[in-house]
Amino acid sequence: MLCRLGRWLRIFGYDTRIINDELDDKRSKKDDDLLLEIAKKEDRILVTRDTALYDRAIKNKLKSVYIESNIIEEQIFELKRAIGIELTLKMARCTLCNGEINIYTSDREELSSIDYIPRRLLSDKKERLWICGRCGQFYWIGNHYKMMRQMVEKVNSLT
Ligand SMILES: [Zn+2]
Repeated sequence: MLCRLGRWLRIFGYDTRIINDELDDKRSKKDDDLLLEIAKKEDRILVTRDTALYDRAIKNKLKSVYIESNIIEEQIFELKRAIGIELTLKMARCTLCNGEINIYTSDREELSSIDYIPRRLLSDKKERLWICGRCGQFYWIGNHYKMMRQMVEKVNSLT
């Protein structure tokens, strides 16, 4: 349910584990036990829309945030209000796998076979390029970056 919020947390540079929708739908008490165990073991803040899970987390003295809204802007705002997350576009975490991303310094000519990378980035070294150390996804500042800045403005305008 909160996959999108999870991806935004990664955009803001936060180490975020996302439990996928499919598992969420068929979740059993056992799965909740596992979620609580992961949160405790990895010292994570459990973010959920499930009141029962939230109550159990609090009872177990875990840090947890209950999200009320199902609108993404409001969800980000709720987290900002609850735990003071910073809405900075960090280029630090891969939105797909949570791996750390770093500036790509190797030869860009070798990337010509990767279709989704704009051709201009292969020759223009002034444009920065990042790569995920875990899954190899590439990142650069493009149109999606403008969309992200607009999202931050939108959230910051909420009160
Ligand atoms: Zn990745």
